[in-house]
This record gives sequence, C-alpha cells and structure tokens, in this order.
Amino acid sequence: MILLAIPNIGPLEGEYLQTCVDTNFVSTVGPFVTRFEKEVAELHGADHAVAVAAGTMGLHAACMVAGVKPGDLVIAPSFTFIASANSIAHSGASPWLIDIDPASWTMSPDALEAALAEDAEQLGSDWIHKPSGRRIAAIMPVYTLGTLPDMDRIGAVARRYGLPVIADAAAAIGVTYKDGPIAPLADLTVFSFNGNKTITTGGGGMVIGNDEALLKRARHITTTARVSRDYEHDEIGWNYRMTNMSAAVGCAQLERLPGFLERKRAIRLRYDAELGDLPGVERFPSPDAAQSTYWFSGVVLTDQARKTVAGLCEALKGHGVEARPFWRPVHLQKPFADAPRADLKHSEALWSRIVTLPCSTGLTEDEQTVVIEAVRAELG
Ligand SMILES: *Cc1c(COP(=O)(O)O)cnc(C)c1O
Repeated sequence: MILLAIPNIGPLEGEYLQTCVDTNFVSTVGPFVTRFEKEVAELHGADHAVAVAAGTMGLHAACMVAGVKPGDLVIAPSFTFIASANSIAHSGASPWLIDIDPASWTMSPDALEAALAEDAEQLGSDWIHKPSGRRIAAIMPVYTLGTLPDMDRIGAVARRYGLPVIADAAAAIGVTYKDGPIAPLADLTVFSFNGNKTITTGGGGMVIGNDEALLKRARHITTTARVSRDYEHDEIGWNYRMTNMSAAVGCAQLERLPGFLERKRAIRLRYDAELGDLPGVERFPSPDAAQSTYWFSGVVLTDQARKTVAGLCEALKGHGVEARPFWRPVHLQKPFADAPRADLKHSEALWSRIVTLPCSTGLTEDEQTVVIEAVRAELG
C-alpha cells in the first residue's frame, strides 16, 4: 500500500535518540528541548517558544494564556480539524464558527467582519455576541494545509475589536508570509508535530510568540504551575511538556525541513499538472511558493467526476493506494452541533468533495506515478 502521510525518519533521528539514551536525558528536561524551541522560534521570527506534547495541548495552553475563559466564544473557521475546536472547548469556551474563502480554504476576512458587524455589541471593554450573550474572547485563524489567510485584514479586525489572535499553524512549519516571518502576525502561533505533519516528533506541539509574559505563562501552566523545586505550585497547572526524546527527533527533522518542504511542493505541483485536467477534477488551492507548506495534496471532485469521493477511495485501494476524505467541518460534529455559527455555505460545499492522496515527504517519483495512473484509470 502507498500510504497517505507517514513519518520520514532516518539515521539522524536515530543518532540524536541514541544521544538521549547515552546521556540519560530521556524525559521533560534536556538540551534537545531547549534547542528545538530556540530553532523553531527563530525560523518563524519569534523570541519565545514552549514545546508541548501535542498541538492540541499547545492550542489549549494558548487559549488559556490569551484570556479565554469558561463561557466565552472564540471565532474559528468551521472547516478545520476538530482539535482547533476541542482546544477552545477544553478552555470552557465554545467556537463561534465562520466560513472560509473558497479560493484558499482559510478563514474568510469578509465572513469575520460580517459576523462581528452583525452580532457583536460592545459592553465596557468587552465585545459580546448578542444572540448568546457570551463574551467574544479571541480569533483563531487556521493555516489550512500550511496556507495563511489574509492576516493583514484579520489582524486589523482583531485590533479593532481588541481581540487576541491565536493562530492554529499546526501544519504550517516553515512557512513565510509576504516574504516575512509569521510569528508577528498573531499573539500566539501553535504548531503540531503529529505523525502525519510535515515534521514529526512522534507526537508534539509548540507555542511561539513575541510577548514574553504570555509565553512565560504558557510555560508555567504547562509544567504544573511549579514555583520552586520543593513542590510548591501557585495554581492548577497541566503536565503538557514535550520530552527530550521527542525533541531529539524534532531537531533532526528540522535539519531536514528544507528538503521536506521542497518535496511537499513538488508532489502538489505534479498532482496539479497530471490530474488537474481530468473531467470533474479541481485542484487544491496552490498559492505561490513560500506562502504555503503544501501539507496535504489531492483532488476536489465535482458532480461531473466519474466517481464519488467514497467510490474513488475504495477503487484506489484496489491499486494499492491509500486515499481518504478530508476534514468534516466542526459544525457537523456531534460535540459542536450547538456551537454558534455564521453562514457556512463554502465550508458546506467543499468538505465532502475532497480526496487526499499520498503525499508523504518520502513518497518516491515512481510511487507518485502509480498514484497518478490509478487516479487517471478511475476518473479518466
Ligand atoms: C494536526 C492538527 C491539530 C492537532 O495537533 P495534534 O498534535 O494532533 O494535537 C490541530 N489543528 C490542525 C489544523 C491540525 O491539522
């Protein structure tokens, strides 16, 4: 089987893991954690970073330090992986779901502006969501497939309403925005190093940002809110810390990141070139290089396609190719069925038409040829 998105682990990862064993630094303290934080922060123009054991934990910590409180709302796109919404719910808040721009699959600034203009009302220094009476606490744009939304406009809206921006950059490691670093675009930016992301630490995440106080607080609450070595804690904290073994893998992966990003882009461009002409097939959004990490690739099927999404995934199995649908929007998920929402027509029209295709950084040209020939045989 040619699998969808699997880790790409080599001798360098093995060497660094052996260093952990040799030095006995296997747990939550160690030189690789410090190095990994420093390097990820520098790569994205951030002064501070806190490594955690999962992207979801990073998003949860970011929500808490950004001041999201029980009962609040956080504005987020419905078209995202459920972890974005879960992290908001873990903070006791609820997502307020808005639509995406169909050209980029990222949060629509028009939808954001319209939702706030229609439903937000100022009360002292807060903005309240009129229909529910709940406080609006933050905006969480998602860098879908490693592509940023129009962050200039989203940032301007955030400033106008005094809302912090928590960027779900889970799949955006290594991306830039208008040739500049991404950390300054949000108060807090969160990455994931899950096994299917561009680089992996087995499981892991990181919060980066330029506000020292926020990041210090993120470190504090993710390490049991410890104030001294003699078991004194000043609040209820979490044990969310990344281990040195995970960070060792992360450091090795980061050295290989430029090659991984190049490969992801080449895979996307080749699918676009060799599948984009099929009847009923549309391409994934492909912004210019450096504006996306092209995390996942595949095809979007219209009504004219020869197969349905389920039909194509099933048929590709017969060719030894793993293919899967993509994110079911948050508003269609049982735990978020009652979340406040704006009009979601673009999310509704898109999600059920996507087929993701093998796009691991280790995918060979020959393997991609097999995938392309299989898709062409089924849809051509
Ligand atoms: C992967 C992902 C996450 C969650 O990261 P984990 O490390 O799996 O907890 C959150 N948001 C998005 C958009 C993701 O793709």
